[in-house]
Amino acid sequence: MSTESSANDVRNLIIIGSGPSGYTAAVYAARANLAPLVFEGSVTAGGALMNTTEVENFPGFPEGIMGPALMDNFRAQAERFGAELIADDVTSVDLTGEVKSVSLADGTTYRAHAVVLAMGSGYRKLGVAREDELSGHGVSWCATCDGFFFREQNIVVVGGGDSAVEEATFLTRFASKVTLVHRRDELRASKIMQDRAIANEKIEFAWNSEVAELHGEGRLEKVTLRDTVTGETRDVDATGLFIAIGHDPRSELLTGQVDLDDEGYVLVQQGSTATNLSGVFAAGDLVDHTYRQAITAAGTGCAAALDAERFLADRE
Ligand code: FAD
Repeated sequence: MSTESSANDVRNLIIIGSGPSGYTAAVYAARANLAPLVFEGSVTAGGALMNTTEVENFPGFPEGIMGPALMDNFRAQAERFGAELIADDVTSVDLTGEVKSVSLADGTTYRAHAVVLAMGSGYRKLGVAREDELSGHGVSWCATCDGFFFREQNIVVVGGGDSAVEEATFLTRFASKVTLVHRRDELRASKIMQDRAIANEKIEFAWNSEVAELHGEGRLEKVTLRDTVTGETRDVDATGLFIAIGHDPRSELLTGQVDLDDEGYVLVQQGSTATNLSGVFAAGDLVDHTYRQAITAAGTGCAAALDAERFLADRE
């Protein structure tokens, strides 16, 4: 049965998501006295950086910082200014009216005049054994984030689209060799990207191939590839495996209410975080196809809080 418990009050602002974008929105909104309520998620509170080791490119930490420690700092800063944090998943929303409702699996419903959507997106996984165990220990989903760690080493990149080819090309700045593994015998990437990769002496192509096994003691050391036509396997020595087979924005809750693009990313008005629905703002990797960094997510989280603050001030 639905309870409207503490939810009887209509709050100023609800934030859904607890990655860099959600917590940054919470810091800004809390410091603007909006007393935001943040749903952090039940399993992955703290967002994508909870699954990584060293983060070296978040400004302000010249020595680098471990991903979970960085997110603990974000969380503590939001709490310090009075954001209310609930480590639970939002399972349904009604964002269309003037008062928005957000519900949990137990039926509890919370209401607010404005909502910031900051649910991020999931990197697609290969689904091979030891992929999670070796994440941050050789296995990565982000060349911009981690390429620097692989200077003069052998890297395998998996995928056949623009991002895989772009990541493979980018990684040749650091690696001694990059093997681009693709299930088919031709790439989906644009012609110009393909030409650039084919001309790059450091890139080798493993056509009709997929990753079958990962090996290494504590860190990735070797990748077994399987031929998708013959089934034959072969080993490639590699200390880095970059998986570039796409992302899935976590926008299922929003279907039919918030405008999404063909790939499920939330559409926002240019130069703003406003969605098609009045009082509903979106930030971070839920919106962003392009940059997908902690700092850009934090930046748009800040913008969403400022947009929500202005929206709330205008309705008074
Ligand atoms: P996320 O961090 O994905 O957070 C979204 C949050 O929303 C999650 O906590 C999730 O639990 C919550 N959520 C989702 N749905 C619901 C729901 N229904 N109810 C409640 N909560 C919900 N970037 C860098 O800048 N530097 C790096 O070194 C770096 N390394 C990375 C390493 C790895 C392994 C990965 C996966 C990513 C890395 N990134 C790095 C990218 C960076 O983590 C992301 O760009 C950033 O976390 C995006 O922030 P976000 O707030 O948009 O989403």
